[in-house]
Amino acid sequence: MFSTLESKLGNRLVLPNHDAYDELRKVWNGAIDRRPKAIVVCESEQDVVDAVNFAKEENLHISIRGGGHNLAGTAVCDDGLMIDLSNMRGVEVDQAKKVAIVEGGAKLGDIDVATQKYGLVTPTGTVSKTGVAGLALGGGLGYLRGKYGLTCDNIVGAHIVTAEGELIYVHENNHQDLFWAIKGGGGNFGVVTKFEFQLYDLGPEVLAIDVMYDYQDVKSILTKAQEFLENAPDDISFNITAMMLPPAPFLPEALHHKKVVAVSGLYAGDPKNGESVIQPLRELAKPIVDQSGVIPYEELQKKLDVMVQDHIPVYGTSLYFKDLDEKTIDVLLNKLENAPVPTVLSQLWALSGKMNRIPEEETAFAIRDASFVLLLDVMVMPGMDEEVCKQWVDSLYADLLPYSHRNASYLNGIALLESATKNTFAQNYERLLSIKRKYDPSNLFRHNHNIDPK
Ligand SMILES: Cc1cc2nc3c(=O)[nH]c(=O)nc-3n(C[C@H](O)[C@H](O)[C@H](O)COP(=O)(O)OP(=O)(O)OC[C@H]3O[C@@H](n4cnc5c(N)ncnc54)[C@H](O)[C@@H]3O)c2cc1C
Repeated sequence: MFSTLESKLGNRLVLPNHDAYDELRKVWNGAIDRRPKAIVVCESEQDVVDAVNFAKEENLHISIRGGGHNLAGTAVCDDGLMIDLSNMRGVEVDQAKKVAIVEGGAKLGDIDVATQKYGLVTPTGTVSKTGVAGLALGGGLGYLRGKYGLTCDNIVGAHIVTAEGELIYVHENNHQDLFWAIKGGGGNFGVVTKFEFQLYDLGPEVLAIDVMYDYQDVKSILTKAQEFLENAPDDISFNITAMMLPPAPFLPEALHHKKVVAVSGLYAGDPKNGESVIQPLRELAKPIVDQSGVIPYEELQKKLDVMVQDHIPVYGTSLYFKDLDEKTIDVLLNKLENAPVPTVLSQLWALSGKMNRIPEEETAFAIRDASFVLLLDVMVMPGMDEEVCKQWVDSLYADLLPYSHRNASYLNGIALLESATKNTFAQNYERLLSIKRKYDPSNLFRHNHNIDPK
């Protein structure tokens, strides 16, 4: 079956009997164990074209791996063809146009390194080793969302291999429908081999917010943070994370196993003007540690990398909220009190500024009127019961759903769930469906928050 493809790709086609197969089918989430029929380790756009054409002819469904960080592990599939872009990580900067041209397997850190050489940035996420492709296609929330919007808002062009095996260039005047759809519609429409992202002047030094409070103050921290958000300038984007600190060597021993609330963020204007603006976020309660201050942008973007372990089984969920009213906070905190394991990362990211001013129909990413998004993950460490953790996450979602905003979730932070997909695409769903039917009527690209063309 694979001989024609093998003649084109040589050892870039990896079959189950190949030594590299088990390593290549691994993704970030250790709970995922899927066995594709073959993996194509692409090194060029032509490799992607060959792989898609082959899948089309052989009636094989396709999964696409950018950085492999998706919680639902949709980069890898059972019995289909996995198109692996992780060797395509090039980033070029067009300084004059202020555009970064980024290959589909790049990590966020690859972009920061290349763009910061010129004092430029594009909004991405907060952990530098995350893949940009899945993040950008599903939204992209980072510390610049208030000032410059989501990652998907800053896609100004893309090279896409469609389900027809055609390599096309989409931008505002070419394949406008597809250009609209990839700004939040996920991997439904083809393989993006290259993105073009808008760049802005920032750095190298920026003012970072990095305060840690005692968990006992969590309720008043959330209430005060919400008050702060009401008048927060676009320059500020911040996240609130409740967790029990691990006994990790990079943390002082006094903090091991301590339950804390961390507030992290960025003031994206002139650091001199930001000190007084960020001050209220440093006084939400009595800090245990406050490392807020001026640091290189690249350092900020890498700060959380040490907290992230790869290949641990993770169960997670997400919901948007309009307000963190007392009842919502109580339901969440009660649930956290009764978590079956201590390895829960519960994040509330404040949403404001530019990302929320973009009209809902302007991009496929529809939820533009929430104030917070919950991103909750449970890491299942050795000895912990995976099924118990999964059930607890499902029950937390069910308990909080009635208090959520539009029953919607950040799709990059939730396992596959048809109702969440539809609720989140909201009024944009029908338009996405018609674009899916046009570009991928046989649902070749189905391993994603799927817009089923049937
Ligand atoms: C440690 C960690 C930190 C994170 N931090 C953030 C954050 O700060 N902000 C945020 O918004 N999100 C964050 N996320 C979530 C992140 O957005 C998703 O995990 C996202 O899927 C990562 O992209 P990826 O390329 O690694 O995904 P992959 O797992 O490789 O792919 C996921 C899906 O995206 C699609 N896809 C991937 N590549 C392509 C491509 N080239 N062309 C077409 N479709 C493609 C496919 O449908 C694929 O199934 C984080 C996740 C992790 C694990």
